[in-house]
Amino acid sequence: MPEGPLTLQTLQNYQLGKLRDTVRYAGARSPFYSGRISSVAAESLADLPQISRLPFTTAEDIRADSRRFLTLPPHDVARIVTLQTSGTTGRSKRFFFTKEELEHTIDFFASGMSTLVKTGQKVLILLPGDKPDSVGDLLARGLERIGVEGIVHGPVQDVRSTVEEIVRRRIDCLVGIPTQALALARGKAGRAILPGMIQSVLLSTDSIPAAIVNALVHAWGCRVFKHYGITEAGLGAAVDCIARDGYHLREADLLFEIVDPQSGTPLPDGETGEIVMTTLTRIGMPLIRYRTGDISRIIAETCSCGSVTKRLAAIRERLDGRAVLADGSTLTISDMDEALFGVEEILNYKATLTIDKGLDRLEVTICVEGDGRTAARKAAESLMAVPSVAVGLSGGSLRLAPVLTGHQNWFTSGVAKRKITDDRVGHSIK
Ligand SMILES: [Zn+2]
Repeated sequence: MPEGPLTLQTLQNYQLGKLRDTVRYAGARSPFYSGRISSVAAESLADLPQISRLPFTTAEDIRADSRRFLTLPPHDVARIVTLQTSGTTGRSKRFFFTKEELEHTIDFFASGMSTLVKTGQKVLILLPGDKPDSVGDLLARGLERIGVEGIVHGPVQDVRSTVEEIVRRRIDCLVGIPTQALALARGKAGRAILPGMIQSVLLSTDSIPAAIVNALVHAWGCRVFKHYGITEAGLGAAVDCIARDGYHLREADLLFEIVDPQSGTPLPDGETGEIVMTTLTRIGMPLIRYRTGDISRIIAETCSCGSVTKRLAAIRERLDGRAVLADGSTLTISDMDEALFGVEEILNYKATLTIDKGLDRLEVTICVEGDGRTAARKAAESLMAVPSVAVGLSGGSLRLAPVLTGHQNWFTSGVAKRKITDDRVGHSIK
């Protein structure tokens, strides 16, 4: 970052310098970029908006051959992250990080967590951390830098044993996946966690429904912070500040744009579109104008915390997290999250779209404890209030199957994002 007090102007000058360095470096050393960006001279980028002269990079480009993005010999790469795609035909995306880049991520985690915890406190990390340089391991190392003990627990597999560990170790702060934190807060076993014990929670990995944030605040009386972390960004991309009014972007290492998902045209601050990211300090696998598939907007106003770094509004949608219904309206997992997690008995749910006699049919199974009849009735009522569902039901193009209940939660060992399963023949999630 630039020396001295950070103003908007020094930050933008710094980013422009780093952008030119990245374009020059990737153009000279990355087999993928050398042919693609050579027509744009780094020096000709007069200001940050001129980044739009450069072509996009897509997840498909990386899947096709991630090694073509490498700018260093493989032995200089400290860590290789492989992202598996969820489809049956998908190839995996691989990302490469050097030791130095992982240090930048550790710094980002240390700085972000200093808002949540203070020296001497304990954090239970409910993210994968058994491998060196995994997200949980990097976070624990970041916490060590600020005198905080980070205990890597891994994703929740059994609510009771996780609750026992929280109580036994007198944990002050949790970092985890939203639906897993919800299961701890709402399940019967979680009553052993008395209000006031957990002082702060950082939610990450999946989109973060306001209904889950509210449920955690209600159960524990804690402060809930949000983190936007994607592997492509070196795991950490943006985090809430003390004001908890939008994620401050990691602008020392990353440059963000919002573009129209269809046309690719850059959108001004405040308008909603797809998040596009350019790395500014990566020397092993720089990415230029990478399309994340996540939908949000930049908050134009300066934050009350005083920082000049830009903020992202909550990630409300992902391009692969929504389904177009027969009447042309769009059903998003975010809409369903807010409707269903607002029902106090619901710990988790699954949603599937099928075709029944030519009509869309929405099947929802909720995870509850005990008799789920009341929860099923409330869930059906809440679903009918989702705008696209209401329109589909009244127009006759959508049917809502009776809401099913189950007791088994759907915890995974990884960090897969939840989706609406689309089993309609001839339809695909867009
Ligand atoms: Zn702030």
